[in-house]
Amino acid sequence: MNLHSLENQYDNIQDKLIDLYAHFHQNPELSFMEMNTSAKLINELRCLGFEIIDNLGGYSFVGILSNGEGPTLAFRTDMDALPILENTDSAFKSIKKMKDVNGNEQPVMHACGHDLHMSTWVGIAKLMSNNQGNWKGTLVMIAQASEEWGAGARSMIEAGLFKKIPTPSYILAYHNAPNMAAGEIGYKAGAFMSGVKTLELKIKGIGGHGAEPQNTIDPIVMASKLILDFQTIISREIPPTESCVLSIGSIHGGFTHNVIPDEVNLQMTLRFFKSEIADKVIESIKRISNGIAISSGLEASNYPELKIIDTACLPPVENNHEYTLQSVAYLKEIAGVQNVNESEPVMIAEDFSLYSKTTDNIPTTMFWIGNADRDKLKSAHSKGKTLPVLHSPMMYPDYKNCIRHGTVYMSELLIKWFNNLNK
Ligand SMILES: [Zn+2]
Ligand SMILES: [Zn+2]
Repeated sequence: MNLHSLENQYDNIQDKLIDLYAHFHQNPELSFMEMNTSAKLINELRCLGFEIIDNLGGYSFVGILSNGEGPTLAFRTDMDALPILENTDSAFKSIKKMKDVNGNEQPVMHACGHDLHMSTWVGIAKLMSNNQGNWKGTLVMIAQASEEWGAGARSMIEAGLFKKIPTPSYILAYHNAPNMAAGEIGYKAGAFMSGVKTLELKIKGIGGHGAEPQNTIDPIVMASKLILDFQTIISREIPPTESCVLSIGSIHGGFTHNVIPDEVNLQMTLRFFKSEIADKVIESIKRISNGIAISSGLEASNYPELKIIDTACLPPVENNHEYTLQSVAYLKEIAGVQNVNESEPVMIAEDFSLYSKTTDNIPTTMFWIGNADRDKLKSAHSKGKTLPVLHSPMMYPDYKNCIRHGTVYMSELLIKWFNNLNK
């Protein structure tokens, strides 16, 4: 088995996968609403002889291909799209609108490229099913809902994912990358993507007439001070060698010109690679908030309240060192040394992190695979620009090459791992 034979086999399935990509791109579905997407993927895997276990938290499911004695390996795709109005000239441009979970009509677009992941994932299932003579073991294809909410992996695990499948020796995934040419692979052993904590701060005051501030304790003024003071947490209290980000994305308080409100609410995102650093930032937020409440003359019962929204918190994506470096060695053989490069960790979060955080301690790796048209990327870089990023309404991947390379490289990688673990 070598790459050439998989490349040749890919030529026979390419049209089918591109049709599938076009279908997913034109029919995106929002998080936790991936009903038709999931049904289509289930149908694809059933036709290939995979056993399906569905209802694993929302529309998440797995397809299992048992191919004799041997290890279990898993490969994960996500399925959801974003409430974004597509602004590209793609032949498959999405004009889809759907009601979100709150009943509001939204435009929908696969602006994070999960349609690339799904098409590749089906391609991998096809090549692995067609080449069962070249590997032995069990392949689990994981299709996960609601990645964008950071909620799908958690609901899959809570629905008993790891009780219903044989424990994988290794779980793999990739995310497409608009800043890399299609066919290039990015890797990082260890911290690959940051963890996230989602925070809400209720700043209480004493409201009253806007013309009589002396009779109030103004939470809008307190919030203004806090927003600036929070900027000093990372710049002055965290060692400069550590990476973390605290961004305040929402501030809400008051309802009219001449009334000082009773409270102001801030929503913040904290990104980090070490939980002790996240804990330190949270302690600092509390200390600074209480400090301003004290200096404003509030009673202890009215100090600001900090809420950590657990359902919107994730640990960092940690790529297992040993397995990742072994995969990198394989990928250099598969794709060529020049196409496999180390990446810097990024401050975006991914709930793929949760698969390695169960009591089974399963090693996991997520790679980047470039999605950019090589010439367009070169021309953008020569002007000091980048191509539209993930979550941009203008994200327009070189889907043909991204899916081709993703499918062939990842299938070959899985076969190498099956053979390695069978030794
Ligand atoms: Zn995304
Ligand atoms: Zn994504």
